[in-house]
Amino acid sequence: MSVDVASLDLDQLLEVLPRYTTEGPRYTSYPTAPVWTESYGPEDFRSDLAQADADASDGLSLYVHVPFCESLCHYCACNKLITKDHARAAGYLDAVEREVAAVRKALRVPRMATQLHWGGGTPTWLAPQEVRRLARILTEAFPLRENAEVSIEVDPRVTTEAHVDALVDSGFNRISMGVQDFDARVQQAVHRIQPAEDTAALVALCRKAGFESVNFDLIYGLPYQTVASFERTLDILFEIGPDRIALYSYAHVTWKAKQQRGFERVDLPDATTKLEIMFMAIRRFLAEGYRFIGLDHFARPEDELSRALADRTLRRNFMGHTTQAGVDLLGFGPSAISELRSSFAQSHREVDAWQDAVMRDGMATVRGHRLSRDDVERRWVIERIMCHGQLRADEFEARFGRAFAESFADALAELAPMQADGLVEIAADGSLVVTPAGRLLVRNVAMAFDAYLAEQRRSGVRMFSKTV
Ligand code: SF4
Repeated sequence: MSVDVASLDLDQLLEVLPRYTTEGPRYTSYPTAPVWTESYGPEDFRSDLAQADADASDGLSLYVHVPFCESLCHYCACNKLITKDHARAAGYLDAVEREVAAVRKALRVPRMATQLHWGGGTPTWLAPQEVRRLARILTEAFPLRENAEVSIEVDPRVTTEAHVDALVDSGFNRISMGVQDFDARVQQAVHRIQPAEDTAALVALCRKAGFESVNFDLIYGLPYQTVASFERTLDILFEIGPDRIALYSYAHVTWKAKQQRGFERVDLPDATTKLEIMFMAIRRFLAEGYRFIGLDHFARPEDELSRALADRTLRRNFMGHTTQAGVDLLGFGPSAISELRSSFAQSHREVDAWQDAVMRDGMATVRGHRLSRDDVERRWVIERIMCHGQLRADEFEARFGRAFAESFADALAELAPMQADGLVEIAADGSLVVTPAGRLLVRNVAMAFDAYLAEQRRSGVRMFSKTV
């Protein structure tokens, strides 16, 4: 399902959007992380891993969290450690090696990786020879399958030609660059000075080295952004020409990213300006030939994400949208999450606590969740909505042996206002299609099927960013 540019009526959407502006999950998992408990620990994870390898031919997705950054970007809510002390890399790599060995041992049969992703933090905070070591640690334990998706998030400010060589030699074929905004005043306000020429030069190096896909991350809603300033950012972006673009809404979550409080004293765009920037950007991406993949992702038509969207094989996990269907995801490094078919496990967030636990025990699991039958059904429903923008009742019934409309009568009733506003279409059997306008509010559609959300809201604890 693609978004038709002409069908995005800004005025109509501006009228309905305020009704749906609320805090809600991004559904990289269901149940969402606040549901998980600390009663799940390393022994539970070991036991779930031992049962996860019934079929050795199944591929694996691997994620590594490299937590270090040179300096703090003031909008950032990621799990990171700001340090220029590069001597820390050795201890970190020793711990990853130990963690990988422990997980490999717990999985009783050898498995190969179809997807490997490094995120952070800043993975290229590591020196090129450390990049090579980390890649070796992972691929010796879990060899890469032919045509595996091997991707990394980089910060162009610290990524050198020697890094690019190390990445190519290590099998990386996709690269994602933090850009956010090319405007000098915005960059200064967010404490991330990154000249466009440097980003363009790194893209040129990556193209020359043979990377199949280059992604840019952008953020709208940052201090001093206006529609006109962001238009100029997009002019530069189109000249450089990434294959994929992720356009994130700035998440003002001061309860977990205290440095964001500084933005309240400067000029954050108001809600209407923010929406105007988003609409302008979407229109321009589509006019430039990018496809709307979902939530905040855009890709060239020939990109594999566009193909996966078209043939309904697109999936979603902690790394965002992916083409990897139904494989176990193993996470390494501080705060990393593993997702098995029936459980989630997460490691210590703090680097030192994670490192100590891993060196002691091999695992640093601090919380997790085993999915109930209801969780599994709702996870399937929510993933269909988030990835495909539609859900077929007959597919649900064939898979779970229950009538969809009866099983989710409450959720479907909750969607009545969205149906009246033209954001979702619901058939008599409960099959639903999210309309092009509704795709901008797809989190709100999914929220109707979340069995835990009402209780989370009653608790009064802030857990999620705004949906719009
Ligand atoms: S945005 Fe990226 S580079 Fe900046 S502090 Fe956050 S993780 Fe580090």
